[in-house]
Amino acid sequence: MNVQQASFRETIADRTSEQFILDRSSFLERTASVAAAAASEAEEVDRDARFPQKAIDTARQQRLLGAQIPQQFGGDGASIFDITDMCYTLGRACSSTAMIFAMHQTKIACLVRHGAGSRYHDALMRRVASEQMLLASSTTEGQNGGNIRFSTAAVEHTGAEISLVRNATVISYGAQADGIVTVARRANDAAGSDQVLLAITRDDYTLERSLGWETLGMRGTCSAGFELKFKGSSEQIFPEGYDKIHAQTMTPVAHLCWSSAWAGIAAAAVERAQLFIRKAARGAGGQMPPGAAHFNAAKMTLTKLRAVITANLDTYAAHEHDERALSSLDFQSRINLLKVEASELAVETVMSAMRACGLAGYRNDGDFSVGRHLRDVLSAPIMINNDRILANIATASLMSAVPLSLRD
Ligand SMILES: Cc1cc2nc3c(=O)[nH]c(=O)nc-3n(C[C@H](O)[C@H](O)[C@H](O)COP(=O)(O)OP(=O)(O)OC[C@H]3O[C@@H](n4cnc5c(N)ncnc54)[C@H](O)[C@@H]3O)c2cc1C
Repeated sequence: MNVQQASFRETIADRTSEQFILDRSSFLERTASVAAAAASEAEEVDRDARFPQKAIDTARQQRLLGAQIPQQFGGDGASIFDITDMCYTLGRACSSTAMIFAMHQTKIACLVRHGAGSRYHDALMRRVASEQMLLASSTTEGQNGGNIRFSTAAVEHTGAEISLVRNATVISYGAQADGIVTVARRANDAAGSDQVLLAITRDDYTLERSLGWETLGMRGTCSAGFELKFKGSSEQIFPEGYDKIHAQTMTPVAHLCWSSAWAGIAAAAVERAQLFIRKAARGAGGQMPPGAAHFNAAKMTLTKLRAVITANLDTYAAHEHDERALSSLDFQSRINLLKVEASELAVETVMSAMRACGLAGYRNDGDFSVGRHLRDVLSAPIMINNDRILANIATASLMSAVPLSLRD
């Protein structure tokens, strides 16, 4: 058991889900429990590129998969602050678990925000809370990369019945999920950017694997490619158009949750570097090793990373129910820049941590190895490519005003 696993274990007691009082004060303990399970299998999950089953089973047992569902539908009504804290804690334990959790919670946020009031989506919220369903995401299609606002596959309508066949080149944990939230073209005669969002569950679709997931990092997300075939009811389409859902929930919540998971990975690497520097200083009678400067650099970028996330969290939370504010050029440009900034800072932090540890950090074994963290965090700038995001927001950035004061 490494230091991290031990520290997680110290903070938890063995409990069953019934013993929890479903309120926010229990989130810390419940998340620590999932983190302990995730840390215990992180190396194996990475080595074998396998799904973190134990961690997700523990998340189910702790009823965290439905934490964001409002209490009247059987969940805990967790806030964006609660959820991003969970992503950070899980990121410190196992990157893949944190990213799976972050993606799932992004889909849940869409369901809660844009499904409420629709009979099908209300029922799905209840099911997520009671069955602790895990929802995956399908946005990437064919050779379209991270161009989420364009869909090729269209929803086919036959009366109230609908169907969809989608070349989904990447669906993280597609094989393990209980449902998928997917974008699609509204209808055969609709433009590629006229999209809808659908929530579909295991019994309505089949997945035929088309691509494997043999990657440098984030191996446990099992983000294989599939041909997705779905048949169901038109009720499964979210009542609001995807353009609104994308701007108001999908993008902000994804960027906040992903960034928090990456910050967790970065924090885990900094923790290892700190242990290394302490050990080296002790061994040298208190003399700081030359790598200490890199450790300071890692701490500095981690501080910036946390600051940029929390500032954006505050902004999002302040305008969460204000459609106009969320759709404004200024907010859209900020929340997109968050993803770019956070992903770059996370990589920089882990790189500095590795340089602080030197060979001990570069090794794949030992207590100070940050190899896994580095491979995992390198996915951050390409998970919706930063170049694409920057190109897309160039005009909005140009049009949004330069702040007049520090807190504008
Ligand atoms: C860990 C992980 C998990 C993922 N999970 C899922 C999932 O569950 N579901 C899902 O649907 N997708 C998922 N994805 C895919 C993700 O959403 C993006 O589709 C994918 O990261 C884009 O990959 P790409 O680099 O091939 O595509 P592109 O975005 O097309 O980029 C390809 C290249 O083109 C360049 N480029 C593209 N556009 C521009 C531009 N406008 N200006 C300049 N350069 C540009 C990029 O810099 C890059 O070099 C996941 C990705 C990762 C890394």
